Amino acid sequence: MKNMISKSKNITQLESQLIGSIDELKKALEHAQDIMETIREPFLVLDTKLRVITANPAFYNTFKVLKKDTEGTLVYQLGNRQWDIPELRKLLEKILPKHTYFKDFEAIHIFPAIGSKTMLLNARKIHHKNLILLAIEDITQRKELETQKDDFIAVASHELKTPVTSIKAYTQILKRRFEKRGDATAVQNLMKMDAQINKLTDIIGKLLDITKIESGKLVFKKEFFDFDSLTEEIVKEIQLTATNHKITVKGKTKRRVFADRMRIGLVLVNFLTNAIRYSPRAAKVIVHLSAGKKTVTVGVQDFGIGIEKTKQAKIFQRFFRAARPEKEVHPSLGLGLYIASEIIEWHNGKMWLKSKVGKGSTFYFRIQSE
Ligand code: ADP
Repeated sequence: MKNMISKSKNITQLESQLIGSIDELKKALEHAQDIMETIREPFLVLDTKLRVITANPAFYNTFKVLKKDTEGTLVYQLGNRQWDIPELRKLLEKILPKHTYFKDFEAIHIFPAIGSKTMLLNARKIHHKNLILLAIEDITQRKELETQKDDFIAVASHELKTPVTSIKAYTQILKRRFEKRGDATAVQNLMKMDAQINKLTDIIGKLLDITKIESGKLVFKKEFFDFDSLTEEIVKEIQLTATNHKITVKGKTKRRVFADRMRIGLVLVNFLTNAIRYSPRAAKVIVHLSAGKKTVTVGVQDFGIGIEKTKQAKIFQRFFRAARPEKEVHPSLGLGLYIASEIIEWHNGKMWLKSKVGKGSTFYFRIQSE
């Protein structure tokens, strides 16, 4: 009798535990559903065979498909096979099983109902649940705006180039005239004006370069040249304008490279001007040259403000600017390193940096040599 009572007590206990668990499960499910409904981006939950378990309202709204045609259907067969995108297939079938997730994959696809769309796809495999979460962000509009912005920069900088070039020419004519007349003050003022025009030309040049990079129109001209001579030439040129810093070159590569001389020179100019600009309290900049097996490496070291670790990864992005030195007077667009990294990438080279806040930075690049 005592035994029976304790058994039925156990069963009641189990029953209430079970009801509790079901309640928790229901709550978790409701919670998950609430999250799905709230997410503004289209979102799919797939099983490992790539069948849709659920889709959120944003998915139905964006891609104009119905729930009854979606749930239980293979992702590729959705809405007249409009999701049968080769890149997506590769990602879901080849990449995801190995890597468990993929991030920010850009795909352009023409959908019958809604036309051409650029999408950013993010997916994650949840192992213990055998589920795949696929988030789809429609970035068509953002891309269009970016193109418009790039077109605007391209047209504006192109239009600016001609008048600035002729202002520079007139400045030089005037300077010669005042020199003849022996008007030293006017000559000095015109030289200051010329220096400012050079800065303007530099900015316009950078803007033109990025628009060409974006549209793939940047033309490179490769030639054989002596790497150490180019470095020396650039160092001399920058030293002329740097009044507070002594630039020294350590080492030699003794190599010839086959590259775009002018553009590799631009990368060096960018490294050096940054090294000077971002080390206002230091007195030296060191250029390290070395050669490896069929490669040359340059490192431009400064003893300036340095760059925070979190910002270092972003430093080569377009328009990115990290910390500013105090009392800055130079124009700064955050374009120089972006252009430099594109130039080095075009040469199949590598660019990287080492930096410590308050201690200084060294920017490196390595390209192939003979
Ligand atoms: P800009 O100097 O015109 O802003 P860059 O692309 O050349 O553009 O540099 C991007 C940002 O990286 C700069 O704004 C600056 O914050 C940081 N940076 C570049 N070089 C250095 C350096 N040598 N030391 C410290 N910060 C630097």
